[in-house]
Amino acid sequence: MSDDDDQIIRITRVPWWPEQQDVPAKYIVVNEERQKMDGPIQDMDVVRPMNKKFTLRGMYEEKEWIKQSTQNCPTYGNCRECFRSGPAGMTCGHCKSDRGGYLSVYVLRGVREKQFIDAEWLASKLNKTGHVNAMAGQKARWRTPPIIQIGTFGINLMSTKMEHEESMSQSDREWVQYDTYLEIEDELEHGWWNPTIVFNRSVLDE
Ligand SMILES: [Zn+2]
Repeated sequence: MSDDDDQIIRITRVPWWPEQQDVPAKYIVVNEERQKMDGPIQDMDVVRPMNKKFTLRGMYEEKEWIKQSTQNCPTYGNCRECFRSGPAGMTCGHCKSDRGGYLSVYVLRGVREKQFIDAEWLASKLNKTGHVNAMAGQKARWRTPPIIQIGTFGINLMSTKMEHEESMSQSDREWVQYDTYLEIEDELEHGWWNPTIVFNRSVLDE
C-alpha cells in the first residue's frame, strides 16, 4: 500500500466497518416479505440517487431512504482499493481488501453541501466492471453506516485508478485520466445546485 493510495479516501467517521458483534444483526431491506427472499435485492429496495449519479446529503431524497433501508444508507459503495461497486460494508470480491470493503462515498462541496456519488456510476466512469449485486436477505451489524467523505482531490486520485486497454500508451492513459477527472468534476459541479435534485420529492411518494 503506497502513501498515495492512502490519500485517496479521507476517513472522517470511523476507520472501517467491521461487524460489531454486540450490535444485533438487522435485515437491511425494510420490506418484510422481500427481505426473506432468496436472490438479488429487488430494484425497488435499492437505495441510490434518483438520477443514478449523485444526490445531496440531508435533502429530501436521503430522508426517504429509511423507507427502503433500515440502515438509511446507499445500497452500494465503492471499494477504496479498486473502486469497483458492490454492497456497502461488504468485503470487495475482487481485491479482498480489509479496509472497509465497499464504502458509500460523498464529496464535500463548498462549506456545507455534501454530495453522495452513485457507486455504479463512479465505477463505470473508471471503466471498472464486476459489479457485485446485493442479496435481498443481507443483514448489517454496523454502529454507523459505511459512508465516507472524500475531498475533490480524491476524485483526481481516483481517476489514476482507471482501467485502460492494455495497448494504450502511458501518455494516452494520463490524458484519459485527466479528462475523466474533469468530466466527473463537471457533472458533480453542475449537479449540486440543480433545483430538480434539491426540491424534487422522492418517486416513492408518487
Ligand atoms: Zn476492490
